[in-house]
Amino acid sequence: MRVLVVEDERRLATELAAALRDAGYAVDCAEDGERADFLAQTERYDAVVLDLGLPRIDGLTILRRWRDAGLSMPVLVLTARGTWHEKVQGIDGGADDYVAKPFRIEEVLARVRALIRRSSGQASPELRCGEVTLDPRSARVTLAGRPVKLTSHEYRLLSYLMHHRDRVVPRVELSEHIYEHGSDRDSNTLEVFVARLRRKLGNAFIETVRGLGYRIGDRP
Ligand code: CA
Repeated sequence: MRVLVVEDERRLATELAAALRDAGYAVDCAEDGERADFLAQTERYDAVVLDLGLPRIDGLTILRRWRDAGLSMPVLVLTARGTWHEKVQGIDGGADDYVAKPFRIEEVLARVRALIRRSSGQASPELRCGEVTLDPRSARVTLAGRPVKLTSHEYRLLSYLMHHRDRVVPRVELSEHIYEHGSDRDSNTLEVFVARLRRKLGNAFIETVRGLGYRIGDRP
């Protein structure tokens, strides 16, 4: 799972990015509206945290532009305290949720989790597939009740597949959702991660659909 953080207050942006990475997400950051617009139009995100007051292009304008362009990723807007009209404008402009500043990072994390869960069609906060469970609240994975230790890339890959279970996920899509901007995306590395996950969770857990991608869940 991959999140874009758009925030021009550097300290806050750093804090948000660190908390989201700790929670198991790949995170890209943009400090102004132009950069945010470029990243959202060229990369794939599972959610965006968008400050409304931004240099160059303001958050609301970018948000409307994204929705006009058909970009449907969930967007959580950060609004100034007490400005009810900002919240209304944000939601009317295509935001899915908002948090007013100042906020607790935990609240942003909880709302991002919920937005990603809903947009991928999952009802339960804990994801299950056979004997494997993944809890995005703690970034923990268990197999038959026993904790399984995963690296951050293994976790992101598993989390994406679990959020999209029963569907064949193409390799390109998978790599778009687990790597941060500018990181080396070698498709062989993807195979290495899948092989390691199979060793940890059972060989049959991740199915390779030849020429198409990977799938977990019930066989069609
Ligand atoms: Ca701002």
